Order: sequence, then structure tokens, then C-alpha cells
Amino acid sequence: QKTKTKTKAKAAQSSTPAPSAADVERRVEALLAQMTLEEKVGQMAQVTLDVVGVGSNRFSSAEPFAVDPARLRDAVVKYKLGSILNAANNRARTPEVWARIIQQIQAAAAETRLKIPVIYGIDAVHGETYTAGATMFPQQIAQAAARNRQLVRRGAEITAYETRASSIPWAFSPVLDLGSDPRSPRQWETYGEDPYLAAELGREVIKGYEGEQNNVNDPTHVAASLKHFMGYQVPQSGKDRTNAYIPLESLYEYHLPAFKAAIDAGAHTIMINSGLINGVPMHANYDILTKLLRERLGFQGLIVTDWGDIDNLYKRDHVVGNVKEAIALAINSGIDMGMLAYQYEEFCDNLVANVKEGKVAQARVDDAVRRILRLKLKLGLFERPVTFPKDYPKFGSPEHERAAYDMAAEAITLLKNQNNVLPLKKTSKVLVTGPNANSMRALNGAWTYSWQGEKVEDFAAKYNTILESLQKEIGAPNVRYVPGVSYNPKQDGKYYDETADRMDEAVAAAKDVDAVILCLGENSYAEKPGDLNDMTLSPLQIELARRLAATGKPVVLVLNEGRPRVISAFEQQMAAVVQTYLPGNHGGEALADILFGDVNPSGKLPYNYPRYPNALVSYIHKYAEEQKKGEGVYNYEADYNPQWEFGHGLSYTSFQYAGLELDKTSLTKDGQLTVKVQVTNTGQREGKEAVQMYTSDLVASQIAPDVRRLRRFDKVSLKPGETKTVTFTLPMQELSYTGRDGEKVLEAGEFEIRIGNQVKKFTLTDSGSASAN
Ligand code: BGC
Repeated sequence: QKTKTKTKAKAAQSSTPAPSAADVERRVEALLAQMTLEEKVGQMAQVTLDVVGVGSNRFSSAEPFAVDPARLRDAVVKYKLGSILNAANNRARTPEVWARIIQQIQAAAAETRLKIPVIYGIDAVHGETYTAGATMFPQQIAQAAARNRQLVRRGAEITAYETRASSIPWAFSPVLDLGSDPRSPRQWETYGEDPYLAAELGREVIKGYEGEQNNVNDPTHVAASLKHFMGYQVPQSGKDRTNAYIPLESLYEYHLPAFKAAIDAGAHTIMINSGLINGVPMHANYDILTKLLRERLGFQGLIVTDWGDIDNLYKRDHVVGNVKEAIALAINSGIDMGMLAYQYEEFCDNLVANVKEGKVAQARVDDAVRRILRLKLKLGLFERPVTFPKDYPKFGSPEHERAAYDMAAEAITLLKNQNNVLPLKKTSKVLVTGPNANSMRALNGAWTYSWQGEKVEDFAAKYNTILESLQKEIGAPNVRYVPGVSYNPKQDGKYYDETADRMDEAVAAAKDVDAVILCLGENSYAEKPGDLNDMTLSPLQIELARRLAATGKPVVLVLNEGRPRVISAFEQQMAAVVQTYLPGNHGGEALADILFGDVNPSGKLPYNYPRYPNALVSYIHKYAEEQKKGEGVYNYEADYNPQWEFGHGLSYTSFQYAGLELDKTSLTKDGQLTVKVQVTNTGQREGKEAVQMYTSDLVASQIAPDVRRLRRFDKVSLKPGETKTVTFTLPMQELSYTGRDGEKVLEAGEFEIRIGNQVKKFTLTDSGSASAN
């Protein structure tokens, strides 16, 4: 018994060699040759665990989980379903309980004729969402603010390890949607509004999940799922899963690059946008799923639908009249696996009928099943259908928790610091107030131990809210807490309900302290429940802020929100503003360390923070939006006038940029530019600076050029007085843009490079050789 355990522990620690591609293909073909149509169709179906789970809220995270044997056998033995997802009753369970669940499912799979294991998938989104005790990182939007590739990769490695520790080999992550519309209830799940930033971090996450060589056979790696392909987060209405109008060139120029980079990085699966683009449901879009994704991008992996989206084709979108036609349309468009949620009999029976009637080609089904079998073989599920928690000793360990803290500490972004009010002195007496001051739910956001994050407090004991972290930082007697405003505590889905909670007392308490730490923002939400009708921060929170400011005490505004809610009604009265985004379980501690100067902030905004609800302009915009006040015929305030720009973020030290140097001033289209810049820490304390390089195309003939685009970034650490030279190389091909027909164009002309306050021009020529500077 002992030796056995040891061997297993070793297997989890050392990396397992990947099975050879030839071996995988041979086994795929051998299986396929034996499969009946019903067996093939079953592989293409994925249902939620609730379908085979018992009852509703009978199980707590500590209790053993028993599946309903009759329902399990109907799904897995009779219908031969290939995949199950997520957590029954929407709740987190311990790794031990997960192992027992998966064991029972795989035992049922082993009863089938060909003994093909089930592939289990889960929304491990900022850590293993549905496992009790798992490490919860800052959400993706915060990870983007950290501008630190190593931290992002490390986070994904830990998430993969802890997901496998829960016997689950497939994570529905990362989100590579462009988060350029702050109205979206899922902007916080993205890496923000820049395509290059999303592509760079997406690539790191893929390697973190799947390993440098994408060897998902290694029992510390999982298969990633890129989602939601594509254009999901910019619907015209701003509401989840509705229609977006995206011209072809914009789709290719802004929405595609992050997905393309992750596909090129070897990601194994992809999930499709649940909404519509230009009136066409993405699940029915042959041009996107097959012609673009399969043929042009060469994606070899598995294409899975989002939740219930085959049904949506007839129930919601009315592009077909019934379920049978919906199934044919989705599969023929390029879908390999349906995330059916509940209705598997209907899917299986109708797909079989569609094939028999020639409405879906046998070859299309074979193609889908090959991809599913290939993934299962590559993941090693035939040899190792279950993994065991004891082989994962680092699950939820201090080392993993530390990585989550490090990411939060680099993500939190100092937006404003009037008269250097921050850092506060540790001898200060402070009032802590606001609905986000004492809530682990708000710090984490949704996809934390449950879908909407409403069960976070069940797991909160081990972690510190902002209030608790501040009490630890400067001693409880120096911290006065009055909520002022509170979120609806009933957790009945109305995440946005607020009540004034001793507001008068909070305002009165401000008079007795040195500074007020006002924690405002949003409660956790995801998807449709998070849809919004007004970008402005809630009226009660604005009232609290104004009344506190009127006391004359310096108010440090701490924002804890999934999207940038408009705060211009009172921002000028705030002495300092700190954006924490959704910083995870260690966000409170990281914030306390920043507010009291133990950590020097280094986060940079991953989006434009809007000043007005009707001015949601991205940093990537056209010159037309740059109209300055008083210019031209009109005398309007500039169209482009964000509260804070993408890339903005202050430090407690100061950085100076000098000596921007280009190795050439004139290049041909196959040329490459080397750019150097010196960054000096001119302040009094050590700090980290995300160096960001932008380019501007001064004239573009087909489509008006973007004002600027991020092309490179790197984070450097500098001691006081220290100077570092940062070098970037930029192939000229990256300066191309997508033309009106969707093809890339690279035009000769003048370009500008900008790093910090340093600007230089160079010329791109049609021919001739590059001239040295
Ligand atoms: C979401 C996906 C998620 C899936 C499974 C859908 O509603 O859009 O992001 O992966 O559910 O939970």
C-alpha cells in the first residue's frame, strides 16, 4: 500500500512524458472503427453534474457526494455521454469529495462496451472555482493590471495543479474576449481592452495550464478552453448574450489576435460565443467556426458550445424552427461537443436521426469524435481516469496562497494621490466604511466557490477582508468601522440591492479620525444577472462619499469593482483613489500593505476609466475622437476625455524616461526596429514600473488609423537612483492593420514610437534597404 502511494506521488510531481502523436492517432482510429453511431453521438454530449446528482442542497462541502446510480447509468451507460461539467447544486466540494464523484462517474464509463472515460470540465477561472480550499487569485482584469507575465503564468500553473488535485483535467479558461465595453457584466473576466495585452497574457496562461510543451498528459496540467470565440463582450445593448455589430475588419483587428495567439500556443479546446454577431448566432456561423477557425487558423482541437446554445438557436434566436434542426445547424457549422446542460436524450436521439437522414454527414460526426477521443487520450484519462488529492500536497498551500497575494500586490492600481496623502502613517486613526469594506464576496467576484460568488462567505474564515487586513496592519484600536451602505445580505440573486447602513454614524465617526478609507464598488455578479442599466456608481454610495468628503477629512477611495463605474460626481473630492478590481482572497492584505506603505503600488489600468456614462471610448480610438476643446466648428468638450487612461497607474516613487533611441529611422517592410529607452527611479523608494511602448500610424489610407496601439510592455524593478535600459524589438509586420476586406495591409509612411513621455518618428518605405541611424 505504501509503495503504491509513493509511486503515485512521484507521478504527480515529475512530469509524465507525452504519448507519441502516432500512438494517439492509432488508438483514436482503432476506437472509432469499433464505435456505433449512438456511441459516437454520446461522446459529443456534455451535461451538468446536476443531471446525475441527487436532490438539491443535501450535500455540504464536507459530506461525501453520492451520485444517483440510476440517473448516472442512464446518462453514461445507456446514452454513453462523453462529458460532464461543473458542480451540482452550484457549490464547492473538497478534493476528496471530487475524487469520489469522478470515481463513480468513471466506474460507470468503465461499464460501457468500449470503456471510454468521461472528460470532466469545470470553470476553474481564477483558481479552481468549485473546490473548497483552493487558491483564489485576482480575477483576470486585475491580472492584466499587474502587467507581469511570470505572475500570470504561475497563477495558471497553480490553478492547473489544484484542478487536477480535484480529479478534473479540463478548465474552461482563459477568457480572451476583448474587454473594451465597460457595460459588459463580464469585463472583469477579460484581460481588458487591448488586443496585444490579452494575447500576451493569454499565451502565458495556456503554457501555465498545459505546460511549455502542451503536454496535458502530465497530471499537474489541464487542457485549457479559450472562450468565448469571439466578439462576445461588445453587444450593442451592453447586455450579456445579445447581438453585437462588428465589421469584419474590427473582428480581425481587435477581437481575433488574442485567440490566434492562444491557438498558436497550442491550446486544446475552445468555447463559442453564446451571442450573435451581425445578427448571426455564433453557434450557427459556418464562416467563423469552420472557414476561419478550422481552415484559416488551423485550430486542431475541440470546439465546444457554451451553455445550452444549441437550444438557443431555435428557442432564443429563431434561426431554425426546432431542436432537431438546431442540432444539425450547430454540428454542420463546426461544433464538436454540445454543452447541453440538461437535455441529453433529445440531443442524442435527434443527432442520430439527423445522420441517418443525411442531414449531418457521418464524416462530420467522425471528425468531431476523433477530436474528443484524441483529447481524452492526450490527457491520459484511459490510464488515469481519477487523480488523488494525496498526490497533490501543495494544494491550497502557503506557497500557492503567496502567489495569489503577489499577484494582488502588483495588480492594485493607484489612480490618484493628491499631496501624497498615501501611504498613510501606521500611527493614523482611520474610519473604514462602505459596502465593500468587510466582504470576501466583493473582493473575489463571481466564479468563487459558486457561480455568482454568493457562497464565498462560507469559506471566508481563513482569509481577511479589507477591514480585517487593516486591523491587522495598524491594530484594531486604530480602526473604526461603520458600514454606511450595505449590500443585500440575503444572497437571493439581487446582488445590486443596497441599503443605507448607519450612514449618519459613519459620517459622524469621520470627525474623530485622521483619514477615511472608503470602500465602494460592486457586489459580485456574472453573466446576465450582472447586466446594468446605468454605469454610474449607485446613488447611496455617491451620497456616502459626498457626505464623508464634506467633513473635510482626507478620503481615500478604494474601488472594488468588476467594471469601472462612473464616479465623476465626487471624484474631485477624494484625496486618493485606489483601484483593487477583484483582487481575490489576498486582496485585502495587499491593499492594506499598499495603503500603509509596505508595498509600493505598480498596477496599470487595463482599460480606460470612463468619466461619463455616455463616453465609453476605448484608448484605441480614431483621431476623430481626439477633437480638443475649442477646436473646429463646435466648442464641445473633447469626445475623448476619460477619467483615467489605459496604462495609467501611480507609484510612491517617481520614474523618469530618457534617451529613447531607435536603431533605424527608415526601414523596409521586412525590417525590424530595435528600440531602447532608459528608465530611472528618481524617487526615494524602490519600485516596479511597467514600461509600455505604443506606436501610432500617422496616415493609413483604407481605414482611419488608431491614435495609438500598445506594442510591447515589460515590468522592471528599480532601486532609488537606479537606471535600467529597456530594449524592445519590433518587426515592421506588426504595424500592419486590417483593411476593409479583412486582409492585413502594411503601408509605407511615417510612424511614431512612444514610451512614457519619449517620442520618436521613423519611416517605413516600400523598398530599398534599411538605413542605420
Ligand atoms: C458561461 C461560460 C461557462 C459555462 C459553463 C456559461 O454560461 O458563459 O463562460 O464556461 O457557462 O459554466
